Amino acid sequence: MLVDSHCHLASRQLAGEIDAVVERARAQGVTRLVTIGTDLDDGPTCLQLAESHPEIHAAVGIHPTSVTEIEAADWLDQIEAWARHPKVVAIGEIGLDYFHKPPEGWTFEAYQARQMDFLEKQLDLAGRLGMNVVVHNRDSWDDTVGAVLPHSDRLRAVFHCHTGSWASAAPLIEAGHLISFTGIATFKSATVVREAATEAAEGQFMVETDAPYLAPVPYRGKRCEPAYVRHTAEAIAGFRGESLEALAAHTTATAEAFFGFR
Ligand SMILES: [Zn+2]
Repeated sequence: MLVDSHCHLASRQLAGEIDAVVERARAQGVTRLVTIGTDLDDGPTCLQLAESHPEIHAAVGIHPTSVTEIEAADWLDQIEAWARHPKVVAIGEIGLDYFHKPPEGWTFEAYQARQMDFLEKQLDLAGRLGMNVVVHNRDSWDDTVGAVLPHSDRLRAVFHCHTGSWASAAPLIEAGHLISFTGIATFKSATVVREAATEAAEGQFMVETDAPYLAPVPYRGKRCEPAYVRHTAEAIAGFRGESLEALAAHTTATAEAFFGFR
């Protein structure tokens, strides 16, 4: 039994296929899927998918690259209302992204400031609701860690798609947070990721697809789907010298404790 702790089932790339996607995941032993929202448009789709499939749970939040598209003044109330849904298991995807260029009409400085404002407000909301958070960072590690760590007494965060070293994750792990690994762990070039996935102890990490993105080998470059988390799990179990069953058992227990699936 495996959990895909991070996928985007509301993506247009998977539209109309979710029943089959869930079926193919089941066939690979992937029995829980956490679909992650990124803005005010995909939140309702995530909730609806979670309502119609027992295997699917949802996270809701505004992704850092979506912050300039949000015009509704009451966006945070909207996220809060969705967060109270029984199948919503975290706030996310939230974070900071300094890789993507700011949209037309935005300076980099203003874009960063708006991302930080949205991150802080959603961290406060999660703390208030007693929920954990799913965190995105890209070229923004220090600022993202710096924003999350002060909230460590109220919530736990998973820094998803960890591609940094094990040493870089230490301050997070020490504060009780998690990292998770995508299909990148299966890429030959990803030696740093392999090392981190080998060093991490049981209870400190989860596995994910980030579908429809980041398909693991042997599907690299193709559309990704939750069934493929098995390939990532097999690869990581191999680095660690443990069986797939052992890795599946402890990463599932970690996901259950983090998300509190109901
Ligand atoms: Zn994502």
